Amino acid sequence: MNKVKEHCSKCGLKYSIEPSFYIGAMYVSYAVGVAVAIAVFVLTLIFGMDLGPGGILLSIVGTLVLTMPYIGAVSKSIWAHFFFKYNPKIATKVSNESRA
Ligand SMILES: [Zn+2]
Repeated sequence: MNKVKEHCSKCGLKYSIEPSFYIGAMYVSYAVGVAVAIAVFVLTLIFGMDLGPGGILLSIVGTLVLTMPYIGAVSKSIWAHFFFKYNPKIATKVSNESRA
């Protein structure tokens, strides 16, 4: 589930800097999960749903379960962006190659 490719198919960038690199995305997914939970809670307030504590908990857990694959993918992307820098030279080279 949510496997990260070994290399970029365009420029050959190695996505895994070291073994288990994406374990660190766990910390990011925790933060993203909390953000989703807060968003669900605020949405229940905005829509004036009177669910009670148990209902709010259930809707948060339900949303987290449903969005788990997306949270995982987004977290890995955020985690990777801490370590990979955008390189304009490679971007130009790759876009020129794909145009040719
Ligand atoms: Zn690339």
